[in-house]
Amino acid sequence: MDPHAGTGRVVLPTNVRPTHYDLTLSPDLVNFTFHGHVLINLDVNQPTTAITLNSNQLTIVSAKLTNLALKTESSQEATDITLDKTNETATLTFADELQPGSTAVLHIVFKGILNESMNGFYRSSFKDNDGKTHYIATTQFEATDARKAFPCWDEPAIKATFDITLRVPSDLVALSNMNVISEKDIRHSGKKGDSTKGPDGEPSTQKGDVPSTQKGDVPSSQKGDVPSTQKGDVPSTQKGDVPSTQKGDVPSTQKGDVPSTQKGDVPSTQKGDVPSTQKGDAVSGYTGSRKEVKFATTPVMSTYLVAFIVGKFEYIETVTKNLPQPITCRVYVLPGKTEEAEFALSVTPLALEYFTELFGVAYPLPKMDLITIPDFESGAMENWGLVTYRAIRLLFNEKTSDLSYKRHIAYTICHEIAHQWFGNLVTMDWWDYLWLNEGFATWVGNLAVSKFFPEWDNWSYFIADGFQMGLALDGLRSSHPIEVPCKHPHEIHQIFDAISYYKGASCIRMLSSWLGLDVFLAGIRRYIKKHAYKNTSTEDLWAALSEESGVDVGLFMNAWIKQVGYPVVDVEENADASALTFKQSRYLSSGDLTAEEDTARWTIPLGIEPENSDSKQNRPLLKEDSLVVNLGKSGHYKVNSGYNGFFRTAYPATALTRISQSIKAKDPLFTPGDRVGLLADLGALSKSGHVKTSSLLELLESFEEEDQYVVWVAIAERVNVISSVFYQQPEDFQKALEKFQRALFSKAAAKLGWESKATDDYRSTLLRKLLLTNAGCAGDEAMVKEAQKRFASYIGGDAKALNQNLQSAAFEIVVLHGEDSDFESVLKCWRDATATDQKLAAIGALTTVRNPALVKQLLEISVSDEVKAQDIGYFFGGLSRNPTSRHDLWEYIKANWDMLNKRYEGSMALLGNIVKSGVGRFSSEEMAKDCEKFFEGKNVDDISRPIAQSLEVVRSNAKWVARDAEDVRQWLVTKGYLV
Ligand SMILES: [Zn+2]
Repeated sequence: MDPHAGTGRVVLPTNVRPTHYDLTLSPDLVNFTFHGHVLINLDVNQPTTAITLNSNQLTIVSAKLTNLALKTESSQEATDITLDKTNETATLTFADELQPGSTAVLHIVFKGILNESMNGFYRSSFKDNDGKTHYIATTQFEATDARKAFPCWDEPAIKATFDITLRVPSDLVALSNMNVISEKDIRHSGKKGDSTKGPDGEPSTQKGDVPSTQKGDVPSSQKGDVPSTQKGDVPSTQKGDVPSTQKGDVPSTQKGDVPSTQKGDVPSTQKGDVPSTQKGDAVSGYTGSRKEVKFATTPVMSTYLVAFIVGKFEYIETVTKNLPQPITCRVYVLPGKTEEAEFALSVTPLALEYFTELFGVAYPLPKMDLITIPDFESGAMENWGLVTYRAIRLLFNEKTSDLSYKRHIAYTICHEIAHQWFGNLVTMDWWDYLWLNEGFATWVGNLAVSKFFPEWDNWSYFIADGFQMGLALDGLRSSHPIEVPCKHPHEIHQIFDAISYYKGASCIRMLSSWLGLDVFLAGIRRYIKKHAYKNTSTEDLWAALSEESGVDVGLFMNAWIKQVGYPVVDVEENADASALTFKQSRYLSSGDLTAEEDTARWTIPLGIEPENSDSKQNRPLLKEDSLVVNLGKSGHYKVNSGYNGFFRTAYPATALTRISQSIKAKDPLFTPGDRVGLLADLGALSKSGHVKTSSLLELLESFEEEDQYVVWVAIAERVNVISSVFYQQPEDFQKALEKFQRALFSKAAAKLGWESKATDDYRSTLLRKLLLTNAGCAGDEAMVKEAQKRFASYIGGDAKALNQNLQSAAFEIVVLHGEDSDFESVLKCWRDATATDQKLAAIGALTTVRNPALVKQLLEISVSDEVKAQDIGYFFGGLSRNPTSRHDLWEYIKANWDMLNKRYEGSMALLGNIVKSGVGRFSSEEMAKDCEKFFEGKNVDDISRPIAQSLEVVRSNAKWVARDAEDVRQWLVTKGYLV
């Protein structure tokens, strides 16, 4: 049966199906081209004379078909090769018809360009200590870019095995999914002028040579000479209220990267033929000698998981100790960086061992390589056996790195290694089910981190971070269901977002809690065993879990997966609060749900605690409009315990007063995760008008004695969002808010101080950084003075004045409250920094600057040769969070749209984030109109979701300000902050 029937998906014909690829590629790192040939074994399903497969930005030099139906082989050249640029396919026509039931081998010779767009087979670069630029050829195929590296059936359900051979300069490392099985030197065997030989002496064409139909398939230039892209936006603990989009794999709540690349010295892209000899040793010291590296045959797998990388790398390695078949684990880094790979190398075998046990199936490959790529669009990519990372997601130096990155690194590694089973071994049928991969890997990655590092209280961070990103995006009308129909490639990249990752993970978490973790994991083992090496849809997962648990999982989950949005649960109490009435309706952050829209209902596990004997036996599920639950005793309760449920809880005022008292009294009923979730719920409900913003401010006051870092993250987030959204209120209002911030943060900040202590752990170290930053930025004089003093010593050469965990705090305070010269000093710190986290600390600080001339300077730097294209989001995100530069940023984007559009046209996730930064933090209808008008008539199909979502956020913000500005002002007056 055709799984695509009736879906409208753009898919390949099923007349033939590939079973095996034998792929040989020769990248040219001087001229940035590659050529290759591939032998593809085909099963013939229908009589046909035409074969259509995916090919994008490749030149097909020749295609030949060898039919194995008869005892004697018969070969025929393609009589016609037709390219379809819109659908990214090539159709090869043959004179003799292929017969069903037969097999054939298709031999294609092709060539392409090592582009700068961070997708397909692309080039990346770095500078060594002597300033010499070195190039890397690497791949990023998910979702639909394997077709830029070799002609193939580029759909996740068309799995095959792969033999990969790379012909590369002898002094470089060549890697692929599998282990190396042979490596030999190769010579330039072609005689001078022998046009039938490629640079490595392999046949590059069949004699007849290039059919004229193909000219022009290779793009005339790859987006200028600037590597495109950046990615990611808002750091997870900060301000912003715009959910960030992610593409590729792990969403980047962190950012950053490595040494900047030279653009000026990149030879322009070759359009013509591949040169027949190597040249240009001057660029990177290549000797000209080459080697052929062959890799073992892969298991049956999808094309989007194939990977190959060529470049100068060093590695450290270890071997798993607790698996029957030991797996070799290596972390590959740029030369000189192996010390920073040690933490990643310590986590990798733990993860392999843990997931082997958890999934009940051995890891099917003999090795697991992790590698940093200097130019990388997303956070990481789970290529089977060869996972690629942005440096900030993999490298950590215990002596010098900012501790805040460590948890993200551990999580990213666990997420990617979980994919080796969930995604790679069992793969989604089609992109509609992307959430299966990403939602599950996000959940189980967090589960692994919680197991390896229990002292981090990882799930509370999830409640503060990913869970909120999912809820924020899904609180918009322009959100989409977790399971979303994808027909065309340009729709696919737009769903690598907080819905697929975080709503998906949150719904998995809710389900695992409902079924019980042990039962849930037994169901997962059942699913993995049944579908190994195959493809699945959401229903296959529900079936396995239902069989295991005896619960109709589909019935429980369908509304969460197939409907857009989520509920707000209103709680009403009877007179003595011994009986509660729960009502559900859809939550919209704009607060203007219409009666016609209020039709969706969810099956909601209410998670009431403490459980009484009654509610324990029948854990209450709210399925209809409303439900009454008797507590058995009055008053003391909470809803959505542990924030396992994907919904908001609207407590009545009487309950909020009681909860506020409980928090002040440090009542253990409210765990750190509960306190985080409570603050976030009240923040969202203030925005939507379910409660007055003053009730959120009132609740914040009860956290004076809070001692948990993760709760302070949530406190800071709430205050920063209010000051960000109400940024156009009069100055006295702004000053009063700052005064309130000082009242919240200063006492706790002073208590911790600037000096680290021998007893410091993960949480206290990060808490110090957070409190000092917030107190100092709110204008606490003592904090500002101390920051300035320490900064002066630091730039004077006393490195001890600011340890690695306090640099970002001091930099930010100094720029925000200092002179232009302080900006220049931090700019110099940025230029001098070699470590990624130090660079990010400086960028975060620089973007808080208020002087418009310096904002302009920063904008120019952000698109200059000094900044890798992948890193623009750190600049734009920061300038967007800064209310004084927000409008300048938008004007800059408008004035430079053509340039930005061109620079990022191959990296739509990054362009989407540029739009979110540019638009998504305004708070007036006037600005919404201005943005809308700007995009009118422009071709923005590829970023239609980010635009619609940003505009909706702006309009929600505008409504919030109109509704509650006076309420907040009155509260500030009542409390004496505003006189
Ligand atoms: Zn993933």
